[in-house]
Amino acid sequence: MLKLVLLGPPGAGKGTQAVTISEKYKIPHISTGDIFRKNVKEGTPLGQKAKNYMDKGELVPDELVVELVKDRLNGSDTQDGFLLDGFPRTVYQAEELDKFLAGRNQKLDKVIDIQVEQAVIMERMSGRRVCRNCGAPYHVKYHPPKQDSVCDLCGGEVYQRADDSEATVLNRLSVYDKQTSPLLDYYEKSGNIVHIEGVGGPEAVFDKIAAALGASTV
Ligand code: AMP
Repeated sequence: MLKLVLLGPPGAGKGTQAVTISEKYKIPHISTGDIFRKNVKEGTPLGQKAKNYMDKGELVPDELVVELVKDRLNGSDTQDGFLLDGFPRTVYQAEELDKFLAGRNQKLDKVIDIQVEQAVIMERMSGRRVCRNCGAPYHVKYHPPKQDSVCDLCGGEVYQRADDSEATVLNRLSVYDKQTSPLLDYYEKSGNIVHIEGVGGPEAVFDKIAAALGASTV
């Protein structure tokens, strides 16, 4: 089974690709963003700590994230394979992940870096909407709900996440440049990174990822 990391700026389509990769390669999808959002919604102590950072588009402090991911990776379903989406986001997190895996004689098989230009990201993200109830994703231009603000699937309210507003998206992109893009160099040194152009439809992007994973389909 594969041990994978998905990298890329917010809005690169990591979440969409992650769902397909996890299905096709039968590995659990671990999204730190989803875990935080669930905790915020449920009002847990972790959610209360994370909310302020998330609303501003800042990163949640490393210690909180690293503990959370280690816990999740200790689960019985993630011993041999997993897909991390949205983690690591800093060099410190990447080092901690490598140490953790080394402790069980493992290492990452591949780091998939999805690349998309900033202008495309702005259009994708500022138009992004989501159902408050079931989490179904929409886009005002590319995939609007049939009835304005009403989810096609469950009838819940379709809204814009606070961290998808234009100002916050700009901040998230700058946080990515400053704190996350140094990871590209980090993984370049370990030699297991592949770069995928994240343009075209989701299927076309997935085909490129599958081609890059080709030989490593264990
Ligand atoms: P995402 O859905 O992956 O864009 O994550 C949403 C928000 O959750 C981010 O803007 C951060 O505030 C927080 N977050 C998710 N993953 C991490 C991480 N690995 N390190 C720090 N903060 C994170």
